[in-house]
Amino acid sequence: MELSKKNLLSVIEKNPINDCKIINLNIFGDELLIDISTSNPTLQSKKSIENSIKKIISENIEEKLDLKINFKIEKKENPQNQIKGNPIQGIKNVIAIASGKGGVGKSTITSNIAITLAQMGFNVGILDADIYGPSIPIMFDIADARPLSVNIEGKNKMKPIESYGVKVLSIGFFTKSDQAVIWRGPMASKALNQMIFDATWGELDFLLVDLPPGTGDIHLSILQALPVTGSVIVSTPQNIALADARKGIAMFNQKSINVPVLGIVENMAFFTPNELPENKYYIFGKDGAKNLSDDMNVKFLGEVPILQSVREASDFGHPASLQENSKISLTFKEISKNLVSELVKRNKDLPPSEILKITTMAGCSAVNK
Ligand code: ADP
Repeated sequence: MELSKKNLLSVIEKNPINDCKIINLNIFGDELLIDISTSNPTLQSKKSIENSIKKIISENIEEKLDLKINFKIEKKENPQNQIKGNPIQGIKNVIAIASGKGGVGKSTITSNIAITLAQMGFNVGILDADIYGPSIPIMFDIADARPLSVNIEGKNKMKPIESYGVKVLSIGFFTKSDQAVIWRGPMASKALNQMIFDATWGELDFLLVDLPPGTGDIHLSILQALPVTGSVIVSTPQNIALADARKGIAMFNQKSINVPVLGIVENMAFFTPNELPENKYYIFGKDGAKNLSDDMNVKFLGEVPILQSVREASDFGHPASLQENSKISLTFKEISKNLVSELVKRNKDLPPSEILKITTMAGCSAVNK
């Protein structure tokens, strides 16, 4: 088929691509520039549209063209989508930290990133929503503390507890550590709502939400209550952890949830014994999370080694990022900088997040934004 704008438009129209509308198309020499509107802002969806267009063109046009696509993210017309989220006054970015599997170091990474962001001069808060093991209070040495109530304009509000320059509220402040999770569950949603709506967080650049492992009810409660700006996935390089991390990414990418995944952190990437500082032992496998990030088109934010000092620092309530100029604190600085730059890109390219709307219909639940 002869190369022309009209012919290209007609072959693309004959092969409709899901959630993709061509706004404009121009050929400049061997460059093909296409403006596309779509309602799905995820990199995966953009990549899939790009691949579909490349395939259609190569099947119909002989010339080799250098394809450049400019995506415009459209809001869906569904009236449900016009309901704006409840941005929490004063909180600029809500970042959900998730892991598929438990015990991969999600809370350790959350604590260290929070402290590093605070050291960089940002106002930071942590909302610890991990009902299975709220470990943030221990890591911040505030396990025995309880938030005070302050009166603000006639209303009683909970004051987060500040430690190492980070404001913290944790589900652990509301439940007893020996209480079974089955009892903690129903209390969790109530406590979460209190921590979100009845707390005085003040001005925050970042509220990091330490989610429970997996993809369950608490995740939906958070997404319903807070307009989550983006998410970070923590995984070890091990196959069973990666399989669960993949599910976590898929949850955020789900069209109805649509929370951009800002990146993956690989924790416990390798072990280096003190006496052999040049040696690296890949106990949980090598580059697993790095490969997952390539595969799922998600930014790799960095890797954290297994270090006795990281474990000890967390257990002693003095996270490793507080060890000034140490190699590990520089690692967390690098990861935090990468996270901030992904967030800046996200806020430039995409509209603000909204909260989830969930409608339940006779035993099946539909999630809508
Ligand atoms: P999660 O929040 O995913 O359940 P935690 O952050 O509580 O995981 O970490 C689980 C355990 O692993 C804790 O004892 C923690 O101190 C330890 N840990 C986490 N990351 C590292 C690391 N990079 N090096 C050594 N120990 C670590």
